[in-house]
Amino acid sequence: MQRHFRSIAVALAVVVTLVVTAVLAGGRLLGIFSGWAWLAIPPIVLVVSWIVGNRLVARRVRQAIDDLRKIEQRDFEAVNTEIPGSDEISELRGVIASAGKALETEITAMKRLETYRKDFLGNVSHELKTPIFSIRGFAETLRDGALERPGVRDSFIDKIIKNADRLSNLAQDLSEIAKIETGELKMKQTAFTLRSVVSEVVESIEPRARNKEITVRCELPPDLPKVFADEGRIRQVLSNLVENGVKYSNPGDTVSVLANRQGDHVVIEVADDGIGIAPEHQSRITERFYRVDASRSRDQGGTGLGLAIVKHILNAHGQRLELQSEVGVGSTFRFSLPLQEATKREAVAERS
Ligand code: ADP
Repeated sequence: MQRHFRSIAVALAVVVTLVVTAVLAGGRLLGIFSGWAWLAIPPIVLVVSWIVGNRLVARRVRQAIDDLRKIEQRDFEAVNTEIPGSDEISELRGVIASAGKALETEITAMKRLETYRKDFLGNVSHELKTPIFSIRGFAETLRDGALERPGVRDSFIDKIIKNADRLSNLAQDLSEIAKIETGELKMKQTAFTLRSVVSEVVESIEPRARNKEITVRCELPPDLPKVFADEGRIRQVLSNLVENGVKYSNPGDTVSVLANRQGDHVVIEVADDGIGIAPEHQSRITERFYRVDASRSRDQGGTGLGLAIVKHILNAHGQRLELQSEVGVGSTFRFSLPLQEATKREAVAERS
């Protein structure tokens, strides 16, 4: 390729030199000038036009080839992105540079995905191993004689059930996360009243809260308008947040679900006066498998996936999960949901 362009540059230089020589020879024959000094001009023209031709074509094509080589060697930093000129060769180099950038972005994303996949598999196998080992350990102890000691037997059976529950929670949350990751999580948005959803969530969690001497309250204004969202998924969000409130609070504490209309939205809060979350953990708690206190979470049947699922569901609704928390004071998780379209239109009409 390069040699080809070099030959073009040589051919151009020869043509230009021949033309100049013919013109000079004509001038000499017509007697416009005399002597033989003009014979020095054609070699100079030959060299100069070859240099110019080479600069104009061959050298610039070489630069484009060099850029492609750097991309081939994945040395993206070295690819020239500031290309002077606007002719076809400059355009070609521009396209090479942007193709290099696109490839670099894709490779970085693939590497990140690969790291994530490895971490995820590592985490899953760790999460599976812990309850399986516990179940095995308790079962072996029972087989080796603990079955005969009723006090020990009952407590070990309870522990086996608790660990089996953990495995079942994990299987459920993993299947949710898998659906989210593969894009299978399709939102079915409808208009619904939050009150019934919140009541269902609170009712289902109450026995567990009562066992822990934790009060669960819900404070929704009677005229709260309908929201437009995926009812089942929002139930899941509320259930995860209220469950967390109960899991990470102490006897005597309260978990409250509050909702208020603000403009076109309803703002929902799940607040507790439990253990709270230190500032350095707050931005990380929605990461998969991230826990502030892993043993407390496991002991409570936690999988470390609940808030990751909550975040994904809210993102799929175009909403964000906000957190305010202080260690020893409590935590408030907050998110918004849009009002049903008709109610939204009324709100706009009221304002105008
Ligand atoms: P887990 O199954 O461990 O509860 P989550 O994803 O639901 O997983 O929460 C991640 C971590 O965030 C928990 O392990 C806990 O450390 C912290 N966390 C979540 N909710 C609360 C809360 N209401 N109060 C204090 N800590 C919380």
